[in-house]
Order: sequence, then structure tokens, then C-alpha cells
Amino acid sequence: MIDTHAHLYFNSYDTDRDEVINRTLSKLDMVINIGIDEKTSKQAVDLSQDYDGFYAAVGLHPEDVSSQMSVDISWVSTLCQHQKVVAIGEIGLDYHERSEVGSKELEDGVKKKQKEIFKAQIENAIENNLPIIVHSRDAFEDTMAILLEYKGHITGVWHSFTEGYEKMQQVINMGFYVGINGIVTYNSAQELQLAVARVDLSHIVLETDSPFLPPQLNRGERNEPSMVELVADKVAQLQNREAYDVVSATDTNAYKVFGIERPRL
Ligand SMILES: [Zn+2]
Repeated sequence: MIDTHAHLYFNSYDTDRDEVINRTLSKLDMVINIGIDEKTSKQAVDLSQDYDGFYAAVGLHPEDVSSQMSVDISWVSTLCQHQKVVAIGEIGLDYHERSEVGSKELEDGVKKKQKEIFKAQIENAIENNLPIIVHSRDAFEDTMAILLEYKGHITGVWHSFTEGYEKMQQVINMGFYVGINGIVTYNSAQELQLAVARVDLSHIVLETDSPFLPPQLNRGERNEPSMVELVADKVAQLQNREAYDVVSATDTNAYKVFGIERPRL
């Protein structure tokens, strides 16, 4: 079983990180820790050096982009040379209402800067032959438009997918995998559940986004990678098949998209 998206470097694990990691490694074969800025990307790389099944993604999250920022992401190019860095991410567009955004000009400035930095990181991934992990919130159309510019040159995972079947197919047709997490267990996520029920398993990967988005059973608590099992169970239930089949198919996808050799049993 694989968690393709976690943030185990966050300080919410500071008091018991070793225990969380032990539980993780006793259940899962692989975890990818995803950076959101320079500091956390380095922390994700550090974790990957300490544990066999841990890998890292490095990148600048759109929420950390401000309109005044100068676009220096040379640290992404440097960090992605590390042998356990398997993707650039998480990167993308986030138009969710932000406290510092007051005027329309400022908002447009932030969006423009997010697009610029997203594109620069996609180009970086292409140069380094790495997939990307896409974060897109309230920005489906703009994210698609940018990814379509690079169609055929870039692949990766559209992380934390929450839309319905039609949009899911658009993402898949662009050559991307769809990241499914605890959201699929929420009663409010009916459109997503219908999409997951119909999708071909060869196009999805499982994730937790730990410490965020715990499955329905653990809502309100801190999430952790071992909970990816509950995501697999829900996908299996929706698809009317065994959890084993879901895990096996999505593991294969994860190894493939991140270019990692499947460990021999
Ligand atoms: Zn994340």
C-alpha cells in the first residue's frame, strides 16, 4: 500500500513522529512527502534519506506565492537532483479566498504570479524528466489551460481531486493520474464518489494529504499515512470489488508515474 501524498515534516508530528513513522512503515510500502516551500522541501528530502520507503517531492505551493514575490525557484532545480526526489510538487493554482487579498488588482496580481511560478516549475520538471504533483483549488479551468500547453511533455498526479466524472476524464485524457484521498469518504462528496465508482483503476493513485483530510471515521483528528487503508476500502466499496485489487492497481500506477522500481517480495 502506498501513500502518494503526505506532509510528515509538519510540526503537528513533532511530539510523536517516530511512532507515526513506525506505524506507517509497518503497514505501507512507500510514502511520498511533499514539500510546499524551500524549507519543507528540504525536510521532505531529509525524511527520504532516513527511511527506505520514503521519497520526496520538492516545490513551491501556490498558497505561498504573493504578488510581490520575485520568481527565484532555483532551489527547486538544486533539490530535485537528489536521488530520492521523485516529483516536483506540490505546485499549481489556488484561488481560494485569501486574507491578504483585498482589491481586484491585488487578486489579479497574485493569480498572475501563481501562473508564472506554476509554469516555471512545470518547465523545470520537464528539464529534469520528473512528473509533477498538482494542487488546484477553485481554479480548475486555469489549471487545465496551463497543463494543456504542456500536454504530451509532462505527466504527474492531480492531487486531492474533488470534481465529478467529466472533469476527471479531462485530467486523465491529459495523461495525468487522479489522486484520491479521505475526501472520497465524506458524505458531502457525492459527485466525486460517482466518478470514482466509474473510473478505470489504471488512472488513480491513493493519498492521505496527512495531517489534513482524515477519512470520515476520524474526522477532526490528525491524519496519518496508515489511514490510506480507509481510502482504499472506500474506493473498493464504490467499485464493488476487493480492497486488495484497488491497492494492487493503484500501487502499480504510483510506481509507474514516479518511476520507482517495485520492490521484490
Ligand atoms: Zn498536500
